Amino acid sequence: DPRLARISSAIRVIPDFPKPGILFQDITTLLLDTKAFKDTIDLFVERYKDKEISVVAGVEARGFIFGPPIALAIGAKFVPMRKPKKLPGKVISEEYSLEYGTDTMEMHVGAVEAGERALIIDDLIATGGTLGAAIRLLERVGVHVVECACVIELPELKGRERLAGKPLFVLTCTK
Ligand code: IMP
Repeated sequence: DPRLARISSAIRVIPDFPKPGILFQDITTLLLDTKAFKDTIDLFVERYKDKEISVVAGVEARGFIFGPPIALAIGAKFVPMRKPKKLPGKVISEEYSLEYGTDTMEMHVGAVEAGERALIIDDLIATGGTLGAAIRLLERVGVHVVECACVIELPELKGRERLAGKPLFVLTCTK
């Protein structure tokens, strides 16, 4: 698809952020390119519009940028998957491991119902720990995770293997 090259080149890479040695993939420059941003949303919408998805679950923070326009276009609701202590209502939580230590992801109780069909969206998959936690949260309440989708994959970290067999769709990979 000719749109993918423009999307890929609109992503900026910043060395040594947030720590020395890390090559940070910065999607804020993709958001500045109105054509590439629209193409990004369109590619996801084309893929998911006929898959009977009732919920788009977006992972904090950049899943909150890409998730809502996709949800609106495919007629699904949007559910934020948040860092701890951000959601005001009753939540269910899932711990996941980071390079050093652990983190927690939370979702509002009652946001989704058993039997719903979900798409999980984030900007980037690295180790897969974050998306893995999102999958577990949704599955614990009986939701069927149809697929995970990201703009960028860092394939050398093999994050796909941590997704409990769920398919992953990405637009671009780092070389
Ligand atoms: P994982 O859990 O190791 O797969 O890390 C993915 C999470 O970390 C996602 O929520 C990303 O937004 C974030 N992340 C990791 N590396 C980058 C990066 O280079 N750019 C933007 N986000 C990143």
